[in-house]
Amino acid sequence: MVEAEVINIIANIKTKLEINEAHLTKLDSQIGDGDHGLNINRGFNAIDINQLENKSFEQIFKLIGMKLISTIGGASGPVYGTLFLEYAKITSNQAEITIDLWVRMNEAAIVSIEKRGGAKLGDKTLLDVLIPYTNELKATKDMLKATKIAHEKCEETVNYIATKGRASYLGERSIGHIDPGCASLVIMLEEVCNGIDNSCIA
Ligand code: ADP
Ligand code: MG
Repeated sequence: MVEAEVINIIANIKTKLEINEAHLTKLDSQIGDGDHGLNINRGFNAIDINQLENKSFEQIFKLIGMKLISTIGGASGPVYGTLFLEYAKITSNQAEITIDLWVRMNEAAIVSIEKRGGAKLGDKTLLDVLIPYTNELKATKDMLKATKIAHEKCEETVNYIATKGRASYLGERSIGHIDPGCASLVIMLEEVCNGIDNSCIA
């Protein structure tokens, strides 16, 4: 994947997040404060696609990460910001994003998100999608398969008790609802998959 393809995916992610704003907000109103759809859209709407043109991977991801941190706020702002800032670091001086590099980008993001937010696998955060997705992709190099796993793992968060973020205030009552951050991440990963192989339908 080259820079122009990444920019195209970001534009598609913006569109999909907008379409799903109400859905994401509904999920967050079940276990959080009902602002995830709004938050994530505020962040992505602040990204000007034209500003990303003719920039390196590092510059593109850094711009996105900084924008998300400064506009989303809440818990998901720093989390998604960290994700993109790690992508920037790992893609520095790279000519192309291969599957192997994409795996390394996500591995770095996982380490950094865990370190910054203190969540781990099973805490009902977007790591419950990002970790199994990355592991599957590393093992099989199969984007379609990894994206399916992301979907399945997102559904599985229904069974988890939230221990991080606002949803943790609910304790056991967080069971029965999907984690909203997992849902927004799946939307993004689907667009990455579509960008590579447009048979990855949501
Ligand atoms: P807030 O919780 O501040 O209202 P959002 O509603 O935008 O923020 O985002 C909530 C999502 O953020 C959760 O569904 C979860 O996936 C993610 N999240 C919250 N805390 C953490 C954390 N410590 N590490 C990783 N992800 C987190
Ligand atoms: Mg919220």
